[in-house]
Amino acid sequence: MIVVLDHNVRPEDKRAIVTFLEDKGFRIREIQGEEETILGAVGIIPIDMREVELLAGVARVIPITKPYKLASREFKKTDTTIPVGPVKIGGPRIAVIAGPCAVESREQIKEIAALVRDSGAVILRGGAYKPRTSPYAFQGLGEKGLKYLKEAGEANGMPVISEIVTPEHAGMFAEYADILQIGARNMQNFELLKTIGALHKPVLLKRGPAATIQDLLMSAEYLLAHGTETVMLCERGIRTFETYTRNTLDISAIPVVKKLSHLPILVDPSHGTGIRAKVLPMALAAVAAGADGLIVEVHTNPEHALSDGPQSLYPEQFEKLMRDIQALTPVLNKELARLPEERPQPPSRPASAAAAAAVAAERGTIKAAFQGEPGAFSENALARYFPERTQSIPLREFRDVFEAVLTGKSHYGIIPIENTLTGSIHQNYDLLLQYPDVRIVGEQTIRIIHNLITLPEAELGDIMRVYSHPQGLSQCARYLDGYPQWEKIPFYDTAGSIAHIAREGKKENAGIASLDAARVHKMKVLKEGIETDSRNYTRFVIIAREELARAESRRGRPNKASLVFSTSNTPGSLFQALQVLAERKINMVKLESRPIAGKPWEEMFYVDVDIPPEATVFRTALEQLSACTETLRTLGLYSV
Ligand code: PEP
Ligand code: MN
Repeated sequence: MIVVLDHNVRPEDKRAIVTFLEDKGFRIREIQGEEETILGAVGIIPIDMREVELLAGVARVIPITKPYKLASREFKKTDTTIPVGPVKIGGPRIAVIAGPCAVESREQIKEIAALVRDSGAVILRGGAYKPRTSPYAFQGLGEKGLKYLKEAGEANGMPVISEIVTPEHAGMFAEYADILQIGARNMQNFELLKTIGALHKPVLLKRGPAATIQDLLMSAEYLLAHGTETVMLCERGIRTFETYTRNTLDISAIPVVKKLSHLPILVDPSHGTGIRAKVLPMALAAVAAGADGLIVEVHTNPEHALSDGPQSLYPEQFEKLMRDIQALTPVLNKELARLPEERPQPPSRPASAAAAAAVAAERGTIKAAFQGEPGAFSENALARYFPERTQSIPLREFRDVFEAVLTGKSHYGIIPIENTLTGSIHQNYDLLLQYPDVRIVGEQTIRIIHNLITLPEAELGDIMRVYSHPQGLSQCARYLDGYPQWEKIPFYDTAGSIAHIAREGKKENAGIASLDAARVHKMKVLKEGIETDSRNYTRFVIIAREELARAESRRGRPNKASLVFSTSNTPGSLFQALQVLAERKINMVKLESRPIAGKPWEEMFYVDVDIPPEATVFRTALEQLSACTETLRTLGLYSV
């Protein structure tokens, strides 16, 4: 049962409640929610719940109706996130685990680790003890395999996961693996579950080939009941009458598990299909269905792999998979989990003040400025770009963001640069040109979802006025047309309009803004998603002072450049400039022309390009471009 405590419960009352329940034989887990403290009392013990309800400090008691308790959503409403080294799994992220089915040699795992890391995997997989159907098949390298796996992980700054098949290996695995995998065949090996639960290490529990979702959650319950709190589930396909694929990947299990449990669920499309060519579509389907991550088999030489070659992706296929997932993330309002750019290196002193700032920023004191009020879309984009440890600084104007970055009040800033419905935000392009010491260092795209927000007690019939940024109002025109009697009042900021209605406290006022803005100001969302066109995305760019930008581009390999140039007013001058790019096969991803202020009918061009891997090709292209244009400015070289 769940015991919700009073807001201001006295410590002595809380202790008395815990003692009362423990004396009855319950095990107690405490959860500190955002707004309330909850005690989970687990045990199959007959008790009259009214006895508990009457104790001092108890607000209410809710029975857990499911046979699994600690794993249930009833027990914990919010999604569980599981930290594994520098990575977090669960919540608004998609974490991808990749590597070979089995560790075959030191060289093999090292090579694959570097490749999958480059493509964006955050955790390295590799089996050392392989549960094979045939006793004559390769059984794994054993402890040596675990050693090689750990070495390869350390060389690339990646946590590692490997399958444990017997409780006897618990000590060994605790030493080598960051996540212990319980294989499908062992999902109901209860002695194994008990031993591993007691290790308090992250666990990936795979669904048995003949297990129901409830069986899976009951096995998770074993792990949780024995101590660990960090359990991830994994859908890897079940046995059905279908024989074309190795298993039938149960995609519908993902939303079902999400409803029943707070635990993250990953999907293994490799074992789920057994066929290399089916891995990519099923991986995308899993991500679209809400999976918190994937575990994918990748091999450099699958034809000669010692196990599961036919279902292992070539590294290039894995790279494409990662790019496709990246493209899906804005639709899902999620972000790919990322490792820090830099691979681990022996500690050394930072070479310059800029590098020192970069290090300070990385160590947990990232300050980032945005325009708008708390809850603004910019702040949401910022949180997505820096998922952890960012102090966000709300400022009134875009120019203030540039000033904060330039003066060092803030390490980074974020500004919107382009919207799919309304086009480029020229004011920010102008500011980028005006502040030559501020550069673009990254980008973040988010989907813009508008909501009608009111005071908690207001209803639709109360509304007389709607406040929002002019863009917010125009992007919701169709919905607002349905209420011609409402007065539409432009406001300087979407989230600011919610702050305004909160301050005024009038039931007849409504605002249009993000869910975050409603949450920040404790307002009610009367109607979600009222934008006319749901394909409403805004691309933000992250800006930093030039020295920090340079330090960053030295650390990560920039793969995108934003340029602005103007050409002479002569025939073919734009053609000439673009030819410089075309001849070097430099891919252009944006081209837009814009009148130059004060020079009627003369144009400048915004150009974004992909930077090719060979740095010299791009450098000479820039030199030539500079020669054949009148002005050329690099707004930023950054990696996306
Ligand atoms: C594996 O991940 O290598 C594996 C054996 O998976 P499963 O237990 O899902 O078959
Ligand atoms: Mn395998």
